[in-house]
Amino acid sequence: MSEQINIRFYEELNDFLPQEQRKTDFRHELKQSRSIKDLIESIGVPHTEIDLIIVNGESVDFNYLVHDSDHISVYPVFESLDISPLNHCQSKPLRNTCFVLDTHLGRLAAYLRMLGFDTLYRNDYDDPELARISVDEHRILLTCDRQLLMRKQITHGYFVRSRQPQQQLLEVLLRFDLFNNQRPFTRCMDCNGKIRAVDKQSIENLLPPDAKKYYNEFFQCEMCNKIYWKGSHYQKMKKMIERVNEC
Ligand SMILES: [Zn+2]
Repeated sequence: MSEQINIRFYEELNDFLPQEQRKTDFRHELKQSRSIKDLIESIGVPHTEIDLIIVNGESVDFNYLVHDSDHISVYPVFESLDISPLNHCQSKPLRNTCFVLDTHLGRLAAYLRMLGFDTLYRNDYDDPELARISVDEHRILLTCDRQLLMRKQITHGYFVRSRQPQQQLLEVLLRFDLFNNQRPFTRCMDCNGKIRAVDKQSIENLLPPDAKKYYNEFFQCEMCNKIYWKGSHYQKMKKMIERVNEC
């Protein structure tokens, strides 16, 4: 069986595709009968990122069986367009919420990254820079500076009330309803890079003696190469996450 379909991915779903397949229709060979969920994931886009699939003009769910010559459009979670009559793939939208934080919120930045939220923070961002990043990159600006939020161009911001970092984290989770969007330990707390599992062998020479002796599972930041393992620091963080989620 050798059949072909036509497929196109929209908006941020293109992030998962090689350059030549982005923002364009492309043909894909159908080697076997499969569900649309399988097909999309085989192309490289995780189903959790998808909210709407249109095949030949009609919305379908993940179980739809793909046919020869199907014309498929795949969309992420919509922000404002009302698509409620259509067949949503996600019961709860998973649109990624991302942040930029002012210079006083370093600890909160680390905690948000710990929960997997895309969080920009540097201790030398000045106010115009923070405002520019928030607007240009559609990031929610978190700040303890009320004046900064009064800048005209800021459309998405939040004034952090508490001075206590764990309390601040809880505030942000509540304010933006993020409890179901957490992906703990998928982002580097130092640099905001993504973390992936690595073979012990490939990083063995970089490990402190105890980590080398007692642990076999390791993760590494794709950006700064920092290595993580499930030691005492991890256990402490895990307890903190549990506490925050109990509130
Ligand atoms: Zn890093």
